[in-house]
Parts: sequence; structure tokens; C-alpha cells
Amino acid sequence: MAEAADLTQFREETRAWLEANCPPEMRQPVKSEEDVCWGGRNFKFQSDAQKRWLEVMAQRGWTTPDWPREVGGGGLTPAESKILKEEMRRIGARNPLNSFGISMLGPALLKYGTEEQKQRFLPPIVRGEIRWCQGYSEPGAGSDLAGLQTRAEDMGDHYLVNGQKVWTSYADQADWIFCLVRTSTESKHGGISFLLFDMESEGVSTKPILLISGYSPFCETFMDNVKVPKDQVVGEVNKGWDVAKYLLGHEREMISGMGLGGGTALLGKTLGEIDDPALRAEVAAFDVDALAFAAMSERFIDQLKAGEAHPAMPSMMKYAGTELNKKRHELIMAGGGSDTLEWESERTRKGKPAREWLRTKANSIEGGTSEVQLGIIAKHILRLPGA
Ligand SMILES: Cc1cc2nc3c(=O)[nH]c(=O)nc-3n(C[C@H](O)[C@H](O)[C@H](O)COP(=O)(O)OP(=O)(O)OC[C@H]3O[C@@H](n4cnc5c(N)ncnc54)[C@H](O)[C@@H]3O)c2cc1C
Repeated sequence: MAEAADLTQFREETRAWLEANCPPEMRQPVKSEEDVCWGGRNFKFQSDAQKRWLEVMAQRGWTTPDWPREVGGGGLTPAESKILKEEMRRIGARNPLNSFGISMLGPALLKYGTEEQKQRFLPPIVRGEIRWCQGYSEPGAGSDLAGLQTRAEDMGDHYLVNGQKVWTSYADQADWIFCLVRTSTESKHGGISFLLFDMESEGVSTKPILLISGYSPFCETFMDNVKVPKDQVVGEVNKGWDVAKYLLGHEREMISGMGLGGGTALLGKTLGEIDDPALRAEVAAFDVDALAFAAMSERFIDQLKAGEAHPAMPSMMKYAGTELNKKRHELIMAGGGSDTLEWESERTRKGKPAREWLRTKANSIEGGTSEVQLGIIAKHILRLPGA
């Protein structure tokens, strides 16, 4: 189908702008976690090019292309956002900013935040000035998230927060946290509030957790008599569960993107010639699933942005995308043979395939486990209580 004339013009302008503004270094594939720009108060840019790429994209609002202009976003329509993504992919442009503020908190603030909260918190997210972390899980509340016990006591002019979070990704590097707290014990789901606070507040501390992969991406986070101003509650007090669930839909959309394998070529092409016919067949079947998932994913994101996604869709896509990514890395390991188990040398880039494979084991846990997603899907499809 031919593209509408105004979109063709937008594509041409976008292409020219990217050509002029995306530094050549930012068109190279990301080689390691250090190449990923997370922004924030303490972020150390790897190069001038990385810094400049963030600045020019943020100035145009293109770190958040479809957010409203009033909060610093690009104000693009869904069709224009898609074109921007395609044109960036065409030249291999890196994502200028990875951010939980963009993928999780932003959409929740746009829906539930007050005007003052939107103006205060969203523009610094667009510019990559504040890095956010997510304080949901607790030692006794993961899948049963509403069982959370971190308390926020009403002290009149502020809340006093006490408790512990766990698996808080990058809490030791984040500037602020969006946090679920218990403001009432009268009802399990109806006693939760959604609170924002600065990680430098007195009484907040973090302790990194070391993983099997050798990385330490998440922390235990402790809150000991942390004072939080009352205007930092998002949505109504005791109705934070609605905000939390809405945000989880967006988190699951983000995680489902793992199924796209970073927009890489077909696995069959990446692995090259495969002698084993059984493995060859498995890779071919995988590539068919991956193509189907990519088409489905595009439709899902359109529907989600238009507020038309079926309530089971975020869980379906999260389940499908993460199981697919796990399979992709199983096949990369199988296709690479015993070499891929090598852990230290420069030849395997210090065991990159094996470390990435181990990392995928967490895909079907983070953002809610696969079993829990299947439960949610069943509830919605069968219209069971609690859906
Ligand atoms: C890489 C990674 C990053 C993360 N980042 C964050 C973060 O930034 N912030 C944050 O708050 N949390 C984060 N988490 C935590 C994550 O949300 C939880 O690990 C997840 O929700 C599961 O909770 P749990 O670990 O307590 O497991 P549990 O809830 O104890 O589950 C244990 C097992 O029981 C199964 N199970 C539990 N309930 C059911 C059920 N009703 N039906 C069927 N099976 C069930 C589960 O599927 C699982 O296999 C992260 C986790 C990972 C792995």
C-alpha cells in the first residue's frame, strides 16, 4: 500500500535529519552494557558522540517520540513514530536513551499523574537527567505482589516509609524510585499507594546482589524512616494498585520486545551453515516463529498505544517474547558448539554468548513469571473472577 504524501514527506525529512545528526559512532551495534546510555545524575558518557546523540534526540523530543510536546515529547502520531523507528533501524542508529522512566513510569504518569507531577517529572525523563528504578517486589511479595508490606505512615504533612524491596534493578545507580507502599491494612489490593521519592533521601540504602552471570544488576533496597512529601503520591491514596497494574502492562510490553532479538537478522543467517539437520530444522522453525512474533508485536504496540489492546495481550506478548528469546539463545549455544561455553577469552568476547544465554533465564521471571502470565491470560480469556 502506498504511503500517504504527508508521511512520505515526514520520512524524507526524518531521514535527512538523522543523516545530519546521528554520529557515525552511534550507528555501530552496541557491543557491551557500557555502550547503553541510561542517563541520570551519575551517568558517565562513553564518548562525546553518545552524549551528543542523547542531546540532539532529546531536544527534538525523539527520546519519547509519541509523548505530548507539552512535557517535552516529540508529539508524533503512531504512524510517524513508526517511521522514525524504521529510519533509525535503516541506518543502525542506537537507541539514544534506555530508561525505566520512558518505558514504565512515563506512561503511568501520563495517565494518572496530576498536571504538576507531569510537568515536574516527565521533561527530565525525556532529557535523560533522572534515572528511575522500580520498587515493587519484596522478599515476601513477588508473584503475589499485592502482599507487599513496606509501610507508608501518614504523618500529617508527609509519609514515613519503612520496609524492604528486593530485585530492584539498578537501584544503586538510580536517582529516584517509583515504589509501591502499604498505606492501609484494611484491604489487600485497596491499601496500596504508588509513591515517588529521591534515592538520596535520608534512610534509603541499597545492597547489590551478585548473579551467576557475574553481573550485579539488581539490589536489595532498604527504607528506614524515609520522609516523602505527600504530593509525590501518584493517583489516589490506597488506589495505587490500578497505577501499578497499568505500569505493569507497559513493562510487559517493553520486556516482550526481547522476542525481537534487537531487530537482528534471521537466526539462520546469523548462525551460518549448520551441519546437523535436526538443529537446522529447529532454527528454521524458530525463524518462522520470530517473524510471526515481529508482525504480532507491531500490531500489539499499535493497539496498546490506541488504548485498544485486549487486557490479556501484555501478558500474552510478554510470555511469547520471553520464551522466544530464551529459545533463541538456546539455539545460539547449540549452533556454536562447545566454543560457546568458553568463558574468558577475547575470542568469545569474554564469554558473551554464554553470559547472554544465562541472562535469558531471567526473562521469564522479570516483570512477572511465565506461570503467572499464563494465569492472567486464562483469567481474562475465561472471564474468571479476579481478571
Ligand atoms: C532480571 C530481573 C529483574 C527484576 N527487576 C525488578 C525490579 O526492577 N523491580 C522489582 O520490583 N522487581 C524486579 N524483579 C522481580 C520480579 O518481578 C519477581 O522476581 C517476579 O515477579 C517473581 O517473584 P518472586 O521472585 O518472588 O518469585 P515467587 O513469586 O516466589 O515465585 C516462585 C515460583 O512460583 C511460581 N508461582 C508463584 N505464584 C504462582 C501462581 N499463582 N501460579 C503459578 N505459579 C506461581 C512462579 O512462577 C515461580 O516459578 C526482577 C526480577 C528479575 C529476574
